[in-house]
Amino acid sequence: MKHYDGLALFSGGLDSLLTALLLMEQGLAIKCLHFYSPFFGSPRRVQHWREVYGLDIDAVDVGDAYVDMLRQGPAHGFGSAMNPCVDCKILMMKRTRGLLAEYGASFIASGEVLGQRPMSQRRDTLNIILRDAGVRGLLLRPLCAQHLEPTQAELSGLVDRSRLLGFNGRGRKDQLALAQKYGVQEIPTPGGGCKLTEKENTRRFWPVLRHVSSPVADDFRLADIGRQFWLGQCWLSIGRHQQDNEAYAGILRNEDLLFKVSGFPGPLAVGRGGRTWDAEAVRMAASLMASYSPKACRAAEEGRSIAVNITSNGQSSQLEVAPLRESLFKEPSWESARDELYALRKPGHVSGD
Ligand code: SF4
Repeated sequence: MKHYDGLALFSGGLDSLLTALLLMEQGLAIKCLHFYSPFFGSPRRVQHWREVYGLDIDAVDVGDAYVDMLRQGPAHGFGSAMNPCVDCKILMMKRTRGLLAEYGASFIASGEVLGQRPMSQRRDTLNIILRDAGVRGLLLRPLCAQHLEPTQAELSGLVDRSRLLGFNGRGRKDQLALAQKYGVQEIPTPGGGCKLTEKENTRRFWPVLRHVSSPVADDFRLADIGRQFWLGQCWLSIGRHQQDNEAYAGILRNEDLLFKVSGFPGPLAVGRGGRTWDAEAVRMAASLMASYSPKACRAAEEGRSIAVNITSNGQSSQLEVAPLRESLFKEPSWESARDELYALRKPGHVSGD
């Protein structure tokens, strides 16, 4: 295997791109690692990035480890939504540290800029990440290195510290000028990319963490598809369009309940929650999902009966229902997720942004 000088975390954002280019300009061999999970990352774009930016990138799936961290409760708390930015960075740094030997690399580089984010890129937070990830001396932040203590790679002369930068604060002017210097044609758009920072996604994801006893990455993939409804621990996801219906195919489990209106076009729906589903919950779910089939609704108004096929564990059954939007199954709200998240906050937590 080719040996590298350093491993750079590459999110696909401008700062991580410039970090890699800045080090490569010194003639260093840099392997970029693109971490992904149900919440962030685009492994399908890796090939595109290789071509447009000339980077050497591997995609690394951290989904299950990430969900474990969420399940245990992030030690440094959540940010403004369900984003545990500090624990997220610690997790990625630890994973990268564990990969150094495999790539023959001796340092880690990341694109953080001092003061760019209100919480996760404050000086004290950057130090917490160094300490808790066990990467003090190993982690180089080339874009703001002039404001930080020299790392082992700089002290040994492997990295020329005089060619590292002293960016500071929230502006993107310096980054854009550097991108221009490197002739970057495709400037990544700022922000975006992490679903955990968004209210709409927190509303979807939080009930999974609250109600599923041992959630795994695929549970959060299901939460990201269709409309979400909960009744206690019974979880129903109703597809909004063909794309949602197709997405279910990749994550459907044998014990899930798959609902489909018989004889009319309409959505698919997936019920998850195992033994918590009783006959009444199944009937309500079938009624609710049938209400999202306009043709079934019209037929019911004309007095025709509506049947819903339900498949689970390889067995199919059929239930006659009236399509009903009124239901005990409720869509989770951002406000209730926010109240529960904020109640978890502890004094002294640096949390995320
Ligand atoms: S926004 Fe926060 S939680 Fe999301 S990927 Fe970035 S550091 Fe991680």
